Amino acid sequence: MKPYYIIHRDDAESKEIAKIITERLGADSLNEYQPEVVFVVGGDGTFLTAVHRYLDILDKVGFVAIHTGTLGFFTDYQAEEVAECLHDYQHRQPLIREAKLLKITVSDQVYYAVNELRIENVHRTQMIDVFIDDTYFETFRGTGICVATQLGSTAYNRSLGGSIIVDGLELLQLSEIAGIHHKAFHSLGSSLILKETSKITLKGYDYEQAVMCYDHKTMNLHDQLTIECSLTAKAIRFFHYRDVSYLKRLNSLF
Ligand code: NAD
Repeated sequence: MKPYYIIHRDDAESKEIAKIITERLGADSLNEYQPEVVFVVGGDGTFLTAVHRYLDILDKVGFVAIHTGTLGFFTDYQAEEVAECLHDYQHRQPLIREAKLLKITVSDQVYYAVNELRIENVHRTQMIDVFIDDTYFETFRGTGICVATQLGSTAYNRSLGGSIIVDGLELLQLSEIAGIHHKAFHSLGSSLILKETSKITLKGYDYEQAVMCYDHKTMNLHDQLTIECSLTAKAIRFFHYRDVSYLKRLNSLF
C-alpha cells in the first residue's frame, strides 16, 4: 500500500470520512511527511490548504479529493461516494492530470498559488504599473489587480467578471479589482487572457497599506515594489479515477 495521508476539514462529516478512509486503507500506511497520495476531505479551501502543505514534494504526491458539499472544482467524489472512491483507488489506475502553479516572486522570496495572486488596497487608490513580458502595458488605478490561473478562473476571478477558462487550457488571466476609469485615468477595464509562458510584473508606486493575497494566504507588502508572476513547472497532480466533465462541475457552481 502506498504511503498516504488525509487532510480534512474540521467538521463531523469530514472527520467521519477520514476515519472510514483510515479503516479501509489501514493506519500503518499513514505517512504525514512523505505521502504519495493525499486524500483531501472538505471544500475548495481544504484543497488549497493541502496543496500549500505539500508544496515541497508536489512532484511526488497525487491528490484525490472528496467534497463534503456540492461537487467541487478540485474534487471528483462527493461525501456519499467515499466507498466508490476507495474502491477506484484500490483497483483502478488513475489518469494523472497536472495543473501548473503560479509562481510569485517578491524581493527574491518565492510564493506559489493554485488559484490566483491579488494585490489589494482597500485604504486608498492603488497605482500599479503593469508590464507583460517586460513591456510596459498600462498604469492601473483602483483597488487592485488579480492574476488567475485556469483553476482559479472560477474563484475570485469569476466574481470580478473575468472569463472562465475550461480545463485543458493552461492560461493566465489579468483582471482589475474596481479600476477607476474616467477622463483623467484609463486602464484596459476588461480581463486580459494571456498565454501560459507570459510573465506579469506589477510595479507599485508605493504599496503602503496594500496586501498581497495568494489563495487563502495574505501578506503585507510595504516597500517591496516589484512583484513578478508566471506559471511554473511546479504542478499539482490530480489522480482521476473517473471522468467528470468540466461543464458538469461548472454547472454545479451556480
Ligand atoms: P474560502 O476557502 O472560504 O473560499 C471562498 C469561496 O471560493 C468558497 O465558496 C470556495 O468554494 C470558492 N473557491 C475557492 N477556490 C475555487 C475554485 N478554484 N473554483 C471555484 N470556487 C472556488 O476562502 P479563502 O480561504 O479566503 O480563499 C481561498 C480562495 O477563495 C481564494 O483563492 C479565492 O479565489 C476564493 N475567494 C473568492 C472570493 C470571491 O469570489 N469574492 C472571496 C474570497 C475568496
